[in-house]
Amino acid sequence: MIDEEDIQICLGSHEPLESRDGAVLPPVSQASFFRKRSAKELFEALQDEDREFVYSRGTNPTVRVLETRLAALERGEACKCFASGMAAISSVLASLLSSGDHVLFINNIYGPTLQLASMLEDFGIRHTAIQGEDVTDFEKFIEPETKLIYFESPGSMTFRLAPVSEIARVGKKRGILTCIDNTVCTPLFQKPLTMGIDISVHSLTKYVGGHSDAVGGAVIASCEILKKIFYRGYMLLGGALAPQNAWLFLRGLMTMPNRVLQHQKDALEVAEYLETHPRVVEVLHPLLFYKEETDFGYTGLFSAVIDVDSFEELCAVVDRLELFGKAVSWGGAESLVIPAFGFDDRHRPPGIPENLVRFSIGLEGASALIKDLSNALEKR
Ligand SMILES: *Cc1c(COP(=O)(O)O)cnc(C)c1O
Repeated sequence: MIDEEDIQICLGSHEPLESRDGAVLPPVSQASFFRKRSAKELFEALQDEDREFVYSRGTNPTVRVLETRLAALERGEACKCFASGMAAISSVLASLLSSGDHVLFINNIYGPTLQLASMLEDFGIRHTAIQGEDVTDFEKFIEPETKLIYFESPGSMTFRLAPVSEIARVGKKRGILTCIDNTVCTPLFQKPLTMGIDISVHSLTKYVGGHSDAVGGAVIASCEILKKIFYRGYMLLGGALAPQNAWLFLRGLMTMPNRVLQHQKDALEVAEYLETHPRVVEVLHPLLFYKEETDFGYTGLFSAVIDVDSFEELCAVVDRLELFGKAVSWGGAESLVIPAFGFDDRHRPPGIPENLVRFSIGLEGASALIKDLSNALEKR
């Protein structure tokens, strides 16, 4: 189910049209800076750079429209958009942590985020990453120096849920900030801020864009937290979203509710087919794990463990697929497949089988995809 209010937010139904001469989307404000009438006005605007249009590394009118819609979708006070999901994530960590602090990562986390955490060790920021059974028992991994709990739900590749409300409760009780990467569910299917989480980060590159043509990211939080991120990680690291790409994301948002519902339906059908296939050991899909949670909405990304003896055999199965592109990323109209890790990949997290492939189900239709999978899996 998708909230009717959310559909209207995605369409911008209630935004005043005067500012854009009645056009449905705002113009691309292709400007690096914004002139003021006087020196005094300029200096006043500079005091409030997170709100005033001064320089496009700070704020930009097209980007602002996207930020307003994303904040509304997550029921958050404020949103800042970034040049990529990783720019958003690195800005959150760089803005809120200092040397001596500790971060607790819960659930299987997007690989580059954990690589960033390792890089931050060089700056005196430590971390612990837990997954599997430990996820429900996360409190014992909190240290006196823990300043941030960062998690994904569902987790990358494994698609197990994390205890979101419990993480929020423990964070509040102990005065530790909590941050979720909410990319996979999109703001339509999960609103972490309403569950007490402080910060939600997104890669807009995936379902928000939806057409595999732009890279971007976003952070949604309270005005107070976002102001800190704006003046530190955002402005100083400089990962600003280009207005042209913001415009593409606004266009993507308009059809996102319809797209994700189709992705959800087709992905579930494909996952259920794979579950019955003799060459499939396990299907990792949140709606199959948590069948009893009827109000849990989900999109089109899941994994499957294939019965093969070698990486070569796994690649041969993947290569026989004709409708699935072999590529990274996901969330577009075309289905994609990727062997998640090489058999001796040093980045492969413990507990993740080597013969795991990840599918992003596009919009080709479930029956065509099932036919393709059936062909690819049958031959040995
Ligand atoms: C893709 C992705 C990111 C990174 O986003 P980019 O836009 O590629 O920088 C972060 N988290 C998750 C879960 C992702 O899938």
